Amino acid sequence: MSRFFSEKYKNLVAYVPGEQPRDQKYIKLNTNENPYPPLPEVAEAVRAESEKLYLYSDTECVELRKILAERLNVSAEELLMTNGSDEILNFAFMAFCDSKTPAVFADVTYGFYPVFADINMLPYEEIPLKEDLTIDITDYFGKNGTIFIANPNAPTAIALGRDEIEEIVKRNPGNIVVVDEAYVDFGAESCVPLIRKYDNLLVTQTFSKSRSMAGARLGMGIGNPELIRDLNTVKYSLNPYNVNRLTHAAGVACLKKDEYNIRNCGIIMETRDRTAKALRDLGFEMTESRTNFLFARHPAVSGEELYLELKKRGILIRHFSKERIRDYNRITIGTPEQMDALIANIKDILEEKK
Ligand SMILES: *Cc1c(COP(=O)(O)O)cnc(C)c1O
Repeated sequence: MSRFFSEKYKNLVAYVPGEQPRDQKYIKLNTNENPYPPLPEVAEAVRAESEKLYLYSDTECVELRKILAERLNVSAEELLMTNGSDEILNFAFMAFCDSKTPAVFADVTYGFYPVFADINMLPYEEIPLKEDLTIDITDYFGKNGTIFIANPNAPTAIALGRDEIEEIVKRNPGNIVVVDEAYVDFGAESCVPLIRKYDNLLVTQTFSKSRSMAGARLGMGIGNPELIRDLNTVKYSLNPYNVNRLTHAAGVACLKKDEYNIRNCGIIMETRDRTAKALRDLGFEMTESRTNFLFARHPAVSGEELYLELKKRGILIRHFSKERIRDYNRITIGTPEQMDALIANIKDILEEKK
């Protein structure tokens, strides 16, 4: 830290993203990326758009919002596009929390929430998950704060049903509930159909996982037009051109062939269920995943040891040192071949432990 770093950030602990090795020698199962690259049409659209890079991007993402509105069965006024969904989440912390309205989220959830609270100097309350890592929805009734729920949750992979989320939204009429649906396309129920019914519901989604565009940075918020206006006030005060031209073009091209993404999600879910079974047969315990990753532990090998042993063998998975979950690892679902390699290597590791 330099002696010039602002006093207000002295104790800030930044978010730590999963490793992104510069070389390609690892099988990367550590950051929940989609293993299938975008279609060639996406690259073509980006190339064509690059000729217009001398012009600023469309601050309103009109074309993208029009297509998405149709897909999601909402209107364009109910949509805001952002630089990844991390950005819309940060906007929501800025727009809907303050010293009297703390952020409220689970003790085991997306690691960025406390960081967003901290950088914006916002108080927050962490609600412990139950022993089995599920959410007790009654813990969230009548909260005096802005609730953030990742659904499905990360890194636990567990989803609540839409009716359960609706109950939380209903029981907090005076507060915003933000539902982070980064993984919703892998088998969970979206709360988007509820946004007309509740003016205190904001849903966030991303192109990073189910649409193979993590590197493009494209996310969105879906909610009542008044909420979207508030979030736009924050956006236009920070970075009006938050979605660049190449990303916008990539997003449009990607949506025009959305059946490709939907099919890939299906393949990933099949691979997930097959991998889960293989790991259970090897003695792993894991949560019921509605995401593109598994959250698993083994009685004979610690989470950290498994992570390190797999890394030695060229496979990256994600280990968290947080007390409550350090027995576990989060394993992204890759291609069937990658998962076969994972299983074979884990078999070797368990064999050596005997
Ligand atoms: C990956 C992820 C996000 C955000 O990803 P972006 O790439 O910024 O869209 C948000 N929430 C959760 C729970 C995630 O896992």
